Formats: sequence, structure tokens, C-alpha cells
Amino acid sequence: MYDVIVVGARCAGSPTAMLLARMGHRVLVLDRASFPSDTLSTHFMHQSGLARLRKWGLLDRLEASGCPPVTEAVWYYGDLPIRGCPPPVQGVGPAYAPRRIVLDKILVDAAREAGAEIREGFTVRDLIVEDGVVVGVRGRSHGGAEEELRARAVVGADGKRSLVARLMDAPVYNDRPARTVAYYTYWTGLDRGYEVYFGDEQQVAVMPTHDDAHLIVCALPHAEKDRFKADIEGTYHRIIKDTAPGLATEMSESGRQTERFMGTADLPFYYRRPYGAGWALAGDAGYHKDPVTGQGITDAFRDAEVLSEALHKVLEGTGDWDEEMAAYEARRNEESQWLYEFTHQAASLGFSDRMRKAFRVLAYDRAEADSFLGIVAGSTSVLDFFGPEHMAELERRAEDPEDEARVAAAAER
Ligand SMILES: Cc1cc2nc3c(=O)[nH]c(=O)nc-3n(C[C@H](O)[C@H](O)[C@H](O)COP(=O)(O)OP(=O)(O)OC[C@H]3O[C@@H](n4cnc5c(N)ncnc54)[C@H](O)[C@@H]3O)c2cc1C
Repeated sequence: MYDVIVVGARCAGSPTAMLLARMGHRVLVLDRASFPSDTLSTHFMHQSGLARLRKWGLLDRLEASGCPPVTEAVWYYGDLPIRGCPPPVQGVGPAYAPRRIVLDKILVDAAREAGAEIREGFTVRDLIVEDGVVVGVRGRSHGGAEEELRARAVVGADGKRSLVARLMDAPVYNDRPARTVAYYTYWTGLDRGYEVYFGDEQQVAVMPTHDDAHLIVCALPHAEKDRFKADIEGTYHRIIKDTAPGLATEMSESGRQTERFMGTADLPFYYRRPYGAGWALAGDAGYHKDPVTGQGITDAFRDAEVLSEALHKVLEGTGDWDEEMAAYEARRNEESQWLYEFTHQAASLGFSDRMRKAFRVLAYDRAEADSFLGIVAGSTSVLDFFGPEHMAELERRAEDPEDEARVAAAAER
């Protein structure tokens, strides 16, 4: 009998298990994958997620893995570069874009070192429910016989298509349809930092990662998903040529594609109630949004920390299950709601006139650019930045006759 069984061993599952094991609980993690292994995901990690890695003692492992630090971001709105560096989060300055094959292995190893038992290649097929309470799982290792494994609580950290959420019929709320389709692959031979290009209803992002490679991802509105899928390579190169012609030239002159294309249009927005009797959800299983703002890994880390603390209180007898889980859900929703809205807006791949004006100011005012980039990094409040007073100030400055000259100078830099 385990204290907790965690289904899924990636960004949400392994940290949940690691933290619970460090608090002295008996934890079993089950994943049908084996590690190291890749998964369908680009992998930009913002400072707020990295701050949690550091708190857990794992940031140095990531730094030692050979992933280049990202010390500056350049977001191009048309020809206008918004260049900056978000304010640090709890002392963490650079961002990173580690390959998931590397990051997820660091997380799995850390859970195992903390004392969690990890069974790779094990698929959970069902939950054991007694008197309406989840008390374990049924499943099997590849080629093995079905097993029943019991625990005081089962955590579904099993991703967007969560079996735990599906079997427990976890209520869905504030859900909205997907807005984009995205495909990515890896390139060597490029001399680039972290860059994002916003075109006319299309977007390109470039992230430096391990092995001197760059991940380049292209996104279109969701309505274009069939067209993109019908000619992934052609559409991908057309988007880059339209949106980032300098990058397209560099790719054709010195770049080499090193991997096949990966991508998806299955990028819905939803919240699920993340608990019921004996079960809880963490990461994408409980909350999902478009990856355009790169929040998924960071959010999974937050869930792992908050959920493991709540479970610890219940397991040691100092907390009531319903109260602790309700507090977990409330904190998740409160901390994510404004970035959820911002992400939904960003995934439209378009901008309001107000935002277009604001970008003009961000192009020449480095402090404002840093603050804007801090929204996704976790160091700037969405509400403060987009508050009526601040937006009115940016609009006023964008209409200042001297703005034209400042913007022109910034575009040339
Ligand atoms: C195209 C794309 C780009 C993205 N880009 C970024 C980005 O740049 N930055 C960012 O922060 N986030 C990004 N994300 C989001 C990020 O990938 C997710 O938010 C993150 O992986 C969530 O982690 P998780 O642990 O909740 O789920 P997952 O990573 O999906 O892990 C779930 C695990 O559960 C296991 N599992 C599932 N069902 C079972 C079962 N029945 N039995 C056993 N095991 C099971 C799976 O094998 C898997 O290993 C992107 C996502 C996509 C699709």
C-alpha cells in the first residue's frame, strides 16, 4: 500500500512524487514511457519555473546539461524589435529551452533519488474505486499481467488526455476551443538567440537548445490546420520567409534540419476541477492552454509544489482532504487566470490597435520592454501592465510626435 500513486512522470508527475518522497511519503510513479524519452512539446522555460527548479536543487543539473542560457529576448512585431530581458524571478535571471529528453530525465532521476519508486513502461488502464473513493489503479507493464496497486491517493499527472480525469469525469470549466496549429523541428548552423516574430496571423519562434541546435516553431490560426498538415514543410518555410526573411536566408545558407517535423492542432483551453474523492490532477491533466506563451512546464511545477504540500497535510493528518484540495484548486486558478486570458489573446496571433501602439514604445524604451517580457517570465503582473493607467500612458507616448523618430532609431538597431 502506497501513500500516493502518481500516473505520469514528466513535468507535473515527477516533481510531485519527488516533493512527497522528500517529505517522507511512500510514492509510486507509473508512466507508460521510458526515460530518457522525448515528447511532443517545444520547451521554453521561463524564470518562474526555473526558480522552482532552483528551490528544488535541480537548476544546477540543467545548467550543467549544456543548454545555453537565454539572457535576452527579441520579439519582432513586423520590423519593430522589442528587445529586453525580464526582471529576474527570485534571483533567476536567464531563461532556458532544454530538450524534454534532458529535462524530463532530470526530473525522473530526482524523484527516484528522493525515494519514490518509478515504474517505467507501465500503462494504467483503470482506477480502483471503492464506495466512491479512488483507492488505487489497475494496469500492466509492457507484456506483463494486469496488476492492482493501492494507495491512499492517486494523482493524475497524465497530461491533456488524462485517463484519471476521464474516468472520474472531472468537471471542465472556462474552456475554449483551440486557436492555433503549430509545427516545429530543429536546426544546426544558426547564429541566433531567443527570437519571436509576429506576422500577419502567423508566428515564428526560435529557441537555442542543446547540441548547438535551435528549435524553430511556426504557428498559424487553427482554421489553417488542414492546410498546414497537407504540406508541413512547404507551409513552415513559407511562414518563416514571410515573417522572418533574414532567418529564412540564414537557414537556407548555413542551416541544417536535424529532425523530423513535430506538431499539433490539439491545443485547447480548459480548466478541470482537479480533485475528487481519493484523486487529484496536476499539470496539463487539470489545466491547459495554447503553448504560445510557454507556460505549461512552469504551471506543472507550480501544481506539483502546491498539490504535494496539500497532500502532505492530509497524509500526516493535519489537513482535511476537501479543504486542502479546494485550496489547491483556488490557488491554481488565482495564479493562472490572467496569464490564461493573456495566452488566449496571444493565441489569436493578432493584436489590438492599443497593443500595436504600445509596441512602438516598447521598441525604444528598454525598461518597458523588460517589464512587458516579464509578463510571461512571471516577474510582471498582467493586471499592472495592462491596467488602464499604464496602457493610457503607453498610448499617449506612442502619439507623441517624437515617438516616430525614436521608433525609427530602434528599428535600425
Ligand atoms: C506543441 C507544444 C509546444 C509546447 N511548448 C511549450 C513551451 O515552449 N514551454 C512550456 O512551458 N510548455 C510548452 N508546452 C506545454 C508542455 O508540453 C506541457 O504543459 C507539459 O508537458 C505538461 O506536463 P505534464 O507532466 O502535465 O504532462 P505530459 O508532459 O503530457 O506528461 C504526461 C505523462 O503521463 C504519461 N501517461 C499518460 N497516460 C498514462 C497512462 N494511462 N499510464 C501511464 N502513463 C501515462 C505519459 O506517458 C506522459 O509521460 C507545449 C506543448 C505542445 C503540445
